[in-house]
Amino acid sequence: MADGAFGLSKELAEETAPVWEKVKDHVTPLEWPEQARLISEINRLKRERDAVILAHNYMTPEIFHGVGDYVGDSLGLAKEAARSDANVIVQAGVHFMAETSKILSPDKTVLIPDLRAGCSLASSITAADVRLIKERHPGLPVVTYVNTTADVKAETDICCTSANAVQVVEWAAKEWGVDKVILIPDEYLARNVAAQTTVGIIAWAGHCEVHKRFTTQDIADMRDAWPDAEVLAHPECPEEILRAADFAGSTAAMTEYVEQRRPRRVVLITECSMASNIKGDVPEVEFVGPCNLCPHMKRITLENIRDCLLHMQFEVTVPEEMLEKARLAVQRMIDLPPPSKPARYDLVKARHHVDVELI
Ligand code: SF4
Repeated sequence: MADGAFGLSKELAEETAPVWEKVKDHVTPLEWPEQARLISEINRLKRERDAVILAHNYMTPEIFHGVGDYVGDSLGLAKEAARSDANVIVQAGVHFMAETSKILSPDKTVLIPDLRAGCSLASSITAADVRLIKERHPGLPVVTYVNTTADVKAETDICCTSANAVQVVEWAAKEWGVDKVILIPDEYLARNVAAQTTVGIIAWAGHCEVHKRFTTQDIADMRDAWPDAEVLAHPECPEEILRAADFAGSTAAMTEYVEQRRPRRVVLITECSMASNIKGDVPEVEFVGPCNLCPHMKRITLENIRDCLLHMQFEVTVPEEMLEKARLAVQRMIDLPPPSKPARYDLVKARHHVDVELI
């Protein structure tokens, strides 16, 4: 009987009210009744299937706040999944993230709601490419960004994220006793890391299609429109974007910056849903600026998460030999002491010669 808000039953309105509070700036009252029903159905199915949902920072707010058991960046999610007792992991994110979850939780069933959820960066490089790079630069360690497929990780010495890339590059150079490392596949991340270290970098011309679209003109326009706004950029953006920003760091570093400093206005130069999701926790901060959406992340919806749990589809597997090799590379990174705080990329203060060779 519909005697609660939005035409929902009293029980359903009460159950979903805390989620509505977090998403109400992004979801219309017209959309909410259907979303509230789906959120309730998904949460019931999770209990029945003994499943947890890993929701990436770039998911839409109704997924992030409504059904995510763990939320955050890709590696943080995979680590949480490995610690969880649940038998089933649903990856509300893209395919390489589901593979990383499988690599760290080989005994669990890993599902992705849409198998087409890919990534321009992950698909920019193949395992055969990595083997050729290694032939061309024998003896140099291969550091691979986690935004890669399992077969690429299997050719890798150690993985990194944008939160620890500088630390991992410096560790690898020291461990191998060399002054250069291969850091693939994101060219911009590699260039931004190179500006923070004296270790030479050999890079690959892969890009994130979302972060490469931002321009310095976008930032100038934002500053004209909102002179008091603080501009935060992700290190998958080109160097000139980071130079024009007030702060640059991983999604975790950006979240920490906003939560600790609570600026009045913020421009987040990253995937658009990130701002909507942080906003749920810091309602007093105003988020302004361009909205670049990742078409791959946006393939994941409440509907296909529900179907995924209902029909136990689509399972993501990694061949055993590949999984073992990839796990070594991911585990090596996890075993490094965690950075005291997520890395800040300061391109303005970078004074040394920046040594990057593009393959
Ligand atoms: S935002 Fe960029 S790096 Fe992330 S999944 Fe989309 S294309 Fe890949």
